Amino acid sequence: MSKTKIAVIGAGAIGSAIAHDLSSRGFKVSVVEKGNIIGGTSGRFHGLLHSGARYAANDIKTARESVQDNKVISRIAGHCVEDTGGLFISLEGEDDSYKEAFLKGCAKAGIECRPVDIESLKQEEPFISKSVKSAFLVPDKVINSFRYIASLLLTAKSEGADVLFDTEVIDFKTAGKNVTGIRTRNVRTGKTADLKADLVINASGAWSSRLLFKSLNIRSMKTILSAGTMIVFDSRFTRYVLNRLRPPSDGDIIVPFFGQSIVGTTSFLVNSPDKVRIDKDDIEFLKNEGSKLIPVIKNMPVHRSYSGVRALVAQAGSDPTGRETSRDFMIFDHSKLDDMAGLLSIGGGKLSTSRLIAKDVGDHVCHIFGSKERSKTNRIQLEWPKLTNDNLSKIAEKTGLSDGFLREVLEETSSRTFSDMYSPAMDLIISRLLFD
Ligand SMILES: Cc1cc2nc3c(=O)[nH]c(=O)nc-3n(C[C@H](O)[C@H](O)[C@H](O)COP(=O)(O)OP(=O)(O)OC[C@H]3O[C@@H](n4cnc5c(N)ncnc54)[C@H](O)[C@@H]3O)c2cc1C
Repeated sequence: MSKTKIAVIGAGAIGSAIAHDLSSRGFKVSVVEKGNIIGGTSGRFHGLLHSGARYAANDIKTARESVQDNKVISRIAGHCVEDTGGLFISLEGEDDSYKEAFLKGCAKAGIECRPVDIESLKQEEPFISKSVKSAFLVPDKVINSFRYIASLLLTAKSEGADVLFDTEVIDFKTAGKNVTGIRTRNVRTGKTADLKADLVINASGAWSSRLLFKSLNIRSMKTILSAGTMIVFDSRFTRYVLNRLRPPSDGDIIVPFFGQSIVGTTSFLVNSPDKVRIDKDDIEFLKNEGSKLIPVIKNMPVHRSYSGVRALVAQAGSDPTGRETSRDFMIFDHSKLDDMAGLLSIGGGKLSTSRLIAKDVGDHVCHIFGSKERSKTNRIQLEWPKLTNDNLSKIAEKTGLSDGFLREVLEETSSRTFSDMYSPAMDLIISRLLFD
């Protein structure tokens, strides 16, 4: 293992993927997270492992990266992904002019896309609107972010990383024009501590720019905070993810998230990731838009609603909602931007491209330290403890949970299908393995 110490701020999808990439290249990594698993945007997203088709017509780079990482993540983290497939649907009376750009973009990005027979679709999916005019099948999938991030962190831990939850970074340690570490505060006890690092990677998502500005007065990281609301129905209506065949806009995707359905999203700018209001009108709007694809939604109760905040990389002339801003990511190297060595920040990106982002960050870090280690994350199967009769006592010992409880979990999970596999008991086991 290299002696180079790296501190990663934030254990969202991107920080966790970076921790795994760097640990697997031999760096000594500490991940510092102020909350718990999926406390940030990665726990408040739409649930899609994008095929890239949504971006095919107007953001070809994100489309290409999405389709590439979709395949890799499905392979290395199959236990987190449901291969639903996704449909892009146009309805009677709608303008078809987007179709050509969509199909061209999919072909250019290398996204498999084929037309679906409408009569068969209506038989197969009785809840879909009868006014479907055309539909195209793409490899969209659904991903459970808790499992994905927990697996990334478990894998990083087994590669030698330290993972600290409930630990907020409150300041950077500096010596002249160098960042030499971070100052942390345990949010439960209030205790502060210093952590030395040869490099600090600020992967705190929507909180990144604020942390830089507050602690170091750095303003070079310009991000747009774009929030989105989603509504959840306590039923699953379709096998497929449904998308409207039109330029990305509000309320145009329905994700069958295991046993539930998530309709979203909206897009509006906010000043702070901690202050996002869910507007009643947005809930009605999403219900109305969702019912155009699945009419029964109109008369169903909304089970719950939530919102998340995207930190998009600001571009000149960015649109006022953030809807048309690229989902591309950027590495901000503060040695070049602000004459402050030892500090990188990550902006933008998608959960679906988190592995590729981490690979690029890993390459950048290797360049800084003159290492020739290459990323291996496209080949490393992410860890996920499989509960069996043989390892039950060992897991009981590691987690402090009783044999009896684990035996019940084993029985329950072995009789479940993938689609309803979301098991709070299993997640409790994972949390214990991660925290200890
Ligand atoms: C409405 C919406 C829907 C989306 N849907 C999808 C989708 O379907 N598919 C997809 O691929 N992408 C989707 N995205 C994008 C995706 O959710 C994000 O790109 C991704 O989750 C960002 O991950 P992250 O690690 O950068 O941020 P986060 O998950 O927010 O992680 C940052 C972490 O940093 C921690 N942190 C902050 N400050 C500090 C500090 N001072 N000290 C320590 N820790 C700190 C936070 O607690 C947080 O856990 C969506 C985004 C939004 C807003």
